[in-house]
Amino acid sequence: MPYNAALCLSPMSIAFPPHAVSRLRTARLLRSTRPFLARGGPSGERCAGCRLILSHCMCAWRTVVATRAGVCLLMAEHETLKPSNTGWLIADVVPETRAFGWARTTVDPELLALLADPQWQPYVVFPGEFVAPERVVSQLLTETADQASEVISNKRPLFILLDATWPEARKIFKKSPYLNSFPVLSLTPDQLSRYRLRRSRRDDHLCTSEVAALCLALSGDDLASQVLEAYLDVFTEHYLCAKQQLKINEDDEVHQRLGQLRAQTDIAIAPKNG
Ligand SMILES: [Zn+2]
Repeated sequence: MPYNAALCLSPMSIAFPPHAVSRLRTARLLRSTRPFLARGGPSGERCAGCRLILSHCMCAWRTVVATRAGVCLLMAEHETLKPSNTGWLIADVVPETRAFGWARTTVDPELLALLADPQWQPYVVFPGEFVAPERVVSQLLTETADQASEVISNKRPLFILLDATWPEARKIFKKSPYLNSFPVLSLTPDQLSRYRLRRSRRDDHLCTSEVAALCLALSGDDLASQVLEAYLDVFTEHYLCAKQQLKINEDDEVHQRLGQLRAQTDIAIAPKNG
């Protein structure tokens, strides 16, 4: 039985058409000859809208925020299949999210068309220490006193995020010549440590949706940035509770925080219980 036959459509997944990461995942599943089994995950029917088991579905908490910036995810081969992948959450929140599977030998013509679209100023989000210094920026180009800034300021930032493990991300960065002409947005140690402090994060690794939240704060998309953080917290809560077979408490702090933020958005859907 193919893996996706075990998925079901929740009412919310009908309300929201499948987003870029969802479509990429479906295409990836159709290509696989063997069913993909998430290791160590809870068993049971999964929701097509959020990938969680039905008892822990978080579709009612889906919050969409319009943004000036766009996000372009370049995803490593298995990333779309991981139930813990957070690129999915970015696509949930930010409608201007595009997602492409990365391959060394081929490049999707739609990706090249996106990168060439004059409405966007692409930035490759990657640690600066691995890149020639003249390519590295820590702020968006509009904020630098650049002669070309007037031209750039009309463009919307497009954050290219490499959604992959660190070794895969390095490979994607090195072996994608079509990215070479774009500035590399490198989050500074200062930005990162402030973020960790604020979020009480101890480990060094930020997940893809956290990096996206930091980028959205740089582009002035503050509400989307905050929603994405709160949405990740809700996802983490649902994901871990599913794993540990615990009931979800939708009145806890993480749900309340997201509830407060979504009240500020115009296109959010009200949570299940009011
Ligand atoms: Zn769901």
